[in-house]
Amino acid sequence: MSEQPAINGLEFARKGEKLSGDVSVAALRRVSGLLSSRDGVVHYELSGLVNEAGKPVLQLKLRGRLWVVCQRCLGEMEYPLATDTELELVADEGGLKPLEEEAESVDTVVADKEMDVVSLVEEEILLEIPMSPKHPEGECGEAGHVPAQPKSNPFSVLAALKKQR
Ligand SMILES: [Zn+2]
Repeated sequence: MSEQPAINGLEFARKGEKLSGDVSVAALRRVSGLLSSRDGVVHYELSGLVNEAGKPVLQLKLRGRLWVVCQRCLGEMEYPLATDTELELVADEGGLKPLEEEAESVDTVVADKEMDVVSLVEEEILLEIPMSPKHPEGECGEAGHVPAQPKSNPFSVLAALKKQR
């Protein structure tokens, strides 16, 4: 990936521009250390607009599939990425609100004339990935973490036991 898309934040928002593309997971350097696999791509859609309050915002939509490490069994775990975030553009760090004052879905970002889109994508994924991801209770160690079989069938219990070794 030689392409490093960048946007002029305020202009992008005021003109209602749109940009979309794919970033390979391997290119997301700050994120890839948290993942068990660097395969795959993350699709992003970035739209600029001015919201009802007259604030310039960037809407960032991410779709993809990441592979994280379960902190209980250290097995691989699929993490479907599907986020829609609104980033309010602020002039400088002073405009950043303390975290607890932010509405759940509104984040702020410092506007710049050259905002690295891949960085925005990374930032968002870092916020999104759980600190210690875990398979749902009782599903650790099972390939593809399929739901546990009914206990009444001794053969499926045996099969599940075998898989765990
Ligand atoms: Zn697990």
